[in-house]
Amino acid sequence: MFKKILIANRGEIALRIIRTCREMGVKTVAVYSEADKHSLHVRFADEAVCIGPPPGRESYLNIPRIISAAYLTGAEAIHPGYGFLAENAEFSDICTASGFVFIGPDPAMIEAMGDKARAKETMKAAGVPVVMGSEGIITNIEDAKAVANEIGFPVIIKAVAGGGGRGMRIVHEAADLEQQIQTAQTEALTAFNNAGVYIEKYIDRPRHIEIQIFGDNHGTVVHYGERECSIQRRHQKLLEESPSPVVTEAIRTAMGAAAVKGAASVGYSGAGTIEFLLDKDSKFYFMEMNTRIQVEHCVTEQVIGIDLIRQQLHVAAGGKIAKKPQRLEGHAIECRINAEDPMKDFRPSPGVITSFHAPGGYGVRLDSHVYSGYTIPPYYDSMIAKLIAFGSNREEAIDRMRSALDEMIVEGVATTIPFHRALMRDKRFRDGDFDTHFLETFDWKTV
Ligand code: ADP
Repeated sequence: MFKKILIANRGEIALRIIRTCREMGVKTVAVYSEADKHSLHVRFADEAVCIGPPPGRESYLNIPRIISAAYLTGAEAIHPGYGFLAENAEFSDICTASGFVFIGPDPAMIEAMGDKARAKETMKAAGVPVVMGSEGIITNIEDAKAVANEIGFPVIIKAVAGGGGRGMRIVHEAADLEQQIQTAQTEALTAFNNAGVYIEKYIDRPRHIEIQIFGDNHGTVVHYGERECSIQRRHQKLLEESPSPVVTEAIRTAMGAAAVKGAASVGYSGAGTIEFLLDKDSKFYFMEMNTRIQVEHCVTEQVIGIDLIRQQLHVAAGGKIAKKPQRLEGHAIECRINAEDPMKDFRPSPGVITSFHAPGGYGVRLDSHVYSGYTIPPYYDSMIAKLIAFGSNREEAIDRMRSALDEMIVEGVATTIPFHRALMRDKRFRDGDFDTHFLETFDWKTV
């Protein structure tokens, strides 16, 4: 095992990784921007190096500064967390070329799966069902029209480099297609520095179901069941749970096998997530792969009893993972607590947390880097905590989450807590009767 690793990230995920490292006796190096001097990841790491001013490109996205910090502190490996450089093939390559172990997949695997259009081709070649659509990126408008007419409207235009719910446009009529493609390309170029877009069938009222997979460097790839992430706002996840209320053992087996087959086809190593859309006829289609640990990994940890961060370190250090299938036990739910004002269309609400009380008790977990007196900087994403509740079944997990949310206090900034409180009391949510459009008709203020 490594003696010392550097964590190229911030916030709750940096703290999450530090916690596991402390347990394992692995020393940690935190890197931080000037805006994060008082962050808990800086306080709890064994060493901390300031890598620059607040904007991401001058700190958490600045590869030379991160590599220098690793040299200076004598770290052996680098954990990228999620976001920032986690899915950057060049970063994975530079870490390795500089003599550090990258705790994640090789550049070739990130490349095969990181670009959404290429990932679809990779999965299709492995025999995994994918959403119908254009083969690769759109290069010619006439071809795009032909594809759209063949698969039928509505279609969705997606940026190959998109992420976090951005870079997608739904087109309902043939007459709008050409103009929408041009707008999407211009937007993608500005937002992601990559104008590539592709088309796929817009699936009617699907559920977002994803499979957690894990591979080692000895040829084993396994899956750890599914997470349901259909509770979304503008294609961004707000709540995740495992297992899904609608995934039967038969669907889990088929989806798990497809996910493993796809990942194994590129010799995948490390933690990864294969995202699918499940339609009303219980047919599922590959959508994209994330070649990193995800925000919502905690719900899987609770139902399979494995620390996924520990396993990432174990695999990166050359260890093997168990081949035996993992049983899901009980039910876990995660609510993303964001510093956003649900009364004001979820507008970010940075500022000082004047008072903070963390809920606790049996079956409750809070992953958070904030505390009373902490200032939420305006530069990064607005997630301030992940509240996770687990129980022997879904109903128990929901009731436990409701109670934990009622106990949680965050003052000084607006948060998504009132929204989640209403959700836990909503009949349709409690019945598991929802899809990715749930939020369009859910009025949390009236619950
Ligand atoms: P991102 O990488 O930005 O998270 P995804 O490809 O994971 O984007 O898609 C995010 C969400 O957008 C999905 O969970 C789903 O709600 C919606 N979505 C994406 N593709 C389709 C599609 N073909 N049909 C219907 N909904 C879709």
